[in-house]
Amino acid sequence: MPPARYLPHSALPQLFDSLTGDGYAIVGPQARDKRIVHAPINAPEDLPWGTSHARSSGFSQLVDGPKNRCFAWANGPQALKPLLFPPREALWQINRENDGFVVEIVEPTHNRLAVIGVRACDLAALHIQDRHFLNGPHSDPQYAARREGLLIIAVNCTHPAETCFCASTGDGPEAKENFDIALTEGDEGFVVESGSPAGERILAMLSLDEASSEQIEDAASELRNAAASQKRSLPSNNLRDSLMARLDHPRWQEVAERCLSCGNCTAVCPTCFCHAEIEEASLDGSHSLHSREWDSCFGERHGYIHGKQLRPGTKQRYRQWLTHKLATWHDQFGRSGCVGCGRCIAWCPVGIDITEEAAALLK
Ligand code: SF4
Ligand code: SF4
Repeated sequence: MPPARYLPHSALPQLFDSLTGDGYAIVGPQARDKRIVHAPINAPEDLPWGTSHARSSGFSQLVDGPKNRCFAWANGPQALKPLLFPPREALWQINRENDGFVVEIVEPTHNRLAVIGVRACDLAALHIQDRHFLNGPHSDPQYAARREGLLIIAVNCTHPAETCFCASTGDGPEAKENFDIALTEGDEGFVVESGSPAGERILAMLSLDEASSEQIEDAASELRNAAASQKRSLPSNNLRDSLMARLDHPRWQEVAERCLSCGNCTAVCPTCFCHAEIEEASLDGSHSLHSREWDSCFGERHGYIHGKQLRPGTKQRYRQWLTHKLATWHDQFGRSGCVGCGRCIAWCPVGIDITEEAAALLK
């Protein structure tokens, strides 16, 4: 790997110019509606400078952060998931013509997209989503096209939220693989590493100096402190057998009495991939649009199979979510489905905390 280089904050416009010059549209973090969102971005001024967050169970709010930093926050409600696997997308449509039907498949779009500010937890989640959408017997053409055009500029987390626990799952706060470029922010700029030939090509356009040993050590020290600052953890990285042995634990009913079955936790989770197929037919029978949209194991239809509701209540639905995420995911993917991003804790309207629930179930 080429040596680490140093990108002063003042040189960020050149990075943006190199990306657009290489044909990439850019998506990056911005402070909007009191949260950090990923949205199209044209210039470094639009990054969330001087922004941090206060976060706890059921609570997330932006607060003032260090003025000279644009990544002094951990993550927003979105991960990479909506960019690669949109909440809703049309797959095909059928039109009645003459005596038959014409089927039109929605062809995948092949665009080049650079995403700035991807966190280590979201890279780990992306790896799981890749396995689900690309590595099975049938690769998903829409996901594959978007994935092929994706350039990932990761930013190592120096300001984890109070809800983060990626250090305990082994997925953060430092991005170790699956990125094209990785940045670690300091007060005056970034220590920069390339992780792929595409990333190296972009960095080569910037003519950056090598990072000094002091800059590299400062970055490493911030990451060590970030990992040490995380207080939450799961009881173990493999809860498969212990959770599956507790399917009748009274805690399932206790959590069901608080849980609203709203599905926020599955919507913000970067590894959840369940979706439903939707058919919208015109009343006159001339046309039908077939789409897919995100589904949630907390919804009615998820457990409805051939006339029978398999998970009639919140207790069964919460148990399905937690035991899939932390237990049977090991059978599917050889690891837990949780990358420690903490989103489900912050965006649960009643503050249900996956780390607390797992610990209570193991008692
Ligand atoms: S289960 Fe919660 S903490 Fe774990 S990856 Fe999903 S949203 Fe993040
Ligand atoms: S655990 Fe929280 S976010 Fe998830 S469905 Fe229940 S109330 Fe909604």
